[in-house]
Amino acid sequence: MREEPPQKQQKQWSLDDFEIGKPLGRGKFGRVYLAREIKSKYVVALKVIFKAQIEKYRLHHQLKREMEIQTSLCHPNVLRLYGWFHDSERIFLILEYCYGGELYRELRKTGYLTEKQAATYIASLTQALAYCHEKHVIHRDIKPENLLLDHEGRLKIADFGWSVQSTNKRRTMCGTLDYLAPEMVENKAHDYAVDNWTLGILCYEFLYGVPPFEAESQSDTFKRIMKVDLSFPSKPHVSAEAKNLISRLLVKDSSKRLSLQKIMEHPWIIKNANPTGTCNK
Ligand code: ATP
Ligand code: MG
Repeated sequence: MREEPPQKQQKQWSLDDFEIGKPLGRGKFGRVYLAREIKSKYVVALKVIFKAQIEKYRLHHQLKREMEIQTSLCHPNVLRLYGWFHDSERIFLILEYCYGGELYRELRKTGYLTEKQAATYIASLTQALAYCHEKHVIHRDIKPENLLLDHEGRLKIADFGWSVQSTNKRRTMCGTLDYLAPEMVENKAHDYAVDNWTLGILCYEFLYGVPPFEAESQSDTFKRIMKVDLSFPSKPHVSAEAKNLISRLLVKDSSKRLSLQKIMEHPWIIKNANPTGTCNK
């Protein structure tokens, strides 16, 4: 039985409020542990960030802003940040625990996802982004490593914002261009439509196992993005409707990309997405 999540209290949180369990993973700035708030018995993920690291990269203002943004967001597909505290050396983020781990691992395990899984995740992401956009938040860094799955296979967007400055552990050779919209690659002004582009990239990667503009070098990826050099390898498990959705998101002119509303009304989503957002295959 899950209890109520830890509430913001008058008193400050401290490490004494938690029992620490197994490590769940490590990031550039620290580690994540399974933990339990002693009083409520509520299970959380505790992310430990070393202040020295943050100071070294001069990220404290950005971290604080992003923590404030994430605390204010409350949506079933956005990872909750319940609160934070610090001691002399470390900052602790009290996060919603995702039993299913990274979607990236799931994708690598099977190579690609079924249309049912892919459509469910795209619909969940679309709804989460619609919610964020309403709150004037653009995520900018949506990629499979930043998507976690809870115990029911429900997708959660994690890592709000400041991870833009962290190195990409997945493709250190090629950098992080793969998920960027043309207007971002070119350093032009950009708006909410960058997230719509990324949905097209992710939909392709979910179904084919690789992002669409992958190339040997950054400059080749750059060229492919700018040309929107999109091709669909023949795969029997990918329907024409899925390709239609992808083609309508990977459009260079950001004003011509399918809106979040239209994604939810797209026949491929209607046909394949599980409306509950849960997805245990
Ligand atoms: P950075 O601090 O640079 O963003 P990172 O993105 O690698 O690094 P996180 O994604 O926050 O760091 O955490 C590292 C790993 O810990 C993740 O890849 C994931 O496997 C695991 N993890 C993080 N948060 C949770 C969570 N809430 N529930 C379950 N596992 C988690
Ligand atoms: Mg991450």
